[in-house]
Amino acid sequence: MKQKGLYDLDRRMYRRTFMHYAGASALMLPAFSMLSGCGGSDKQSTEKTEAVDASGERKLGIALVGLGKYSEGELAPALEETKLCRLAGIVTGTPEKAEKWKKKYNIPAENIYNYQNFDQIRDNPEIDIVYVVLPNSMHAEYTIRAAQAGKHVICEKPMATSAADCQKMIDACNKAGKKLAIGYRLHFEPHNLEMMRLGQQLEYGKVKRILAQNGQKEGNDTPWRFDKELAGGGPLPDVGIYCLQGAIYTKGQIPVSVTAQYHPVTDKDKFKEVEEGIDFQLQFEDGSVAECKTSYNDQYNLLRAEADKGWFELQPAYQYGGLKGKTSQGDMKVENINQQARQMDAMADSFMNNTEIKVTGEMGMRDVQLIEAIYQAADTGKKVSTTHVQKALNHYKTA
Ligand code: NAD
Repeated sequence: MKQKGLYDLDRRMYRRTFMHYAGASALMLPAFSMLSGCGGSDKQSTEKTEAVDASGERKLGIALVGLGKYSEGELAPALEETKLCRLAGIVTGTPEKAEKWKKKYNIPAENIYNYQNFDQIRDNPEIDIVYVVLPNSMHAEYTIRAAQAGKHVICEKPMATSAADCQKMIDACNKAGKKLAIGYRLHFEPHNLEMMRLGQQLEYGKVKRILAQNGQKEGNDTPWRFDKELAGGGPLPDVGIYCLQGAIYTKGQIPVSVTAQYHPVTDKDKFKEVEEGIDFQLQFEDGSVAECKTSYNDQYNLLRAEADKGWFELQPAYQYGGLKGKTSQGDMKVENINQQARQMDAMADSFMNNTEIKVTGEMGMRDVQLIEAIYQAADTGKKVSTTHVQKALNHYKTA
């Protein structure tokens, strides 16, 4: 069953796009130059006009930076389903990958970059958005370089490996007048939107307790995930971040303090630098608590809220599809969608129409600050105050 609110969003995006690109030519030039970080010369405007597709809509061009598992398995296929944006370019250090993607996705040679010549992307009017899908510690550098090249940025989660880097990324995008969104796909996913609605609108009364658990058996195919320098941590910044997010958007509040305990290490070779698992608890101002756990050596996938007048939960809650929701009154009747396509279209809509971004750099920084506090709590065994974190909340809106 298609949810009314989301259907309306689809239609609104189409209407906006149509008005944006198919309007009178007098309206077109300012619109195009708004999208371009390079000014909007006559040459660029002509090229952009040529990029208008057969139905009269110009999709924003995305360049994926880093062609690993997530880009290859999820983002590139999703970009074949998006309505407002398309795969226009790639950035890779591996010539064989460049050749493979060039053929598979029909990417022109001039839209293929490597890490050395990446900054030349500033001269390419076909690329509106740079999507950073690299190991976590590289997010800051490529977000900043993309903004300096005059492109809007989508940066994968976790935003960075330190709050200090997050601030630099926000500052660089602000300075360049470019927008920044974090790849938090679940803010666009119907089951998770329903958790936000039920929790934030107090449908079952005050939420007193949240359980958020996300764990997976992590293999060896992406070794950087066990490297503290590159990953910033273990399962906490990688998959535990979804527990943090889920608890906050279900409760509609940011915790005021955190406590945490590391899991025992059972595989000493694998977990030399990062934690194997961690339990953490978020304390909210009204006395309610979120009990969270995450692991690279165990499987769980749950977001559950217990409220004064009932409960509601998702299990699985965070994976790419097949999510299931239940409440104390029965099954949730919401559909599974292509999360990445929905996310990228919503972001393209915000970029082209200058509307509110649901998942801002400030939200990404908030979560990195909370992760730092959780590690501090686990290291010291003490409760750590989190009243200093960014007050970035995305309240559920019924638009
Ligand atoms: P991956 O290892 O499969 O891909 C990383 C890419 O970066 C590879 O193409 C690799 O060649 C390239 N790279 C460049 N320099 C590198 C270096 N010094 N070391 C290692 N790789 C280097 O990883 P992935 O699973 O695709 O994850 C990439 C990013 O996407 C991470 O930040 C991750 O958190 C995020 N991610 C998000 C989701 C989501 O659901 N939003 C899902 C998976 C991954």
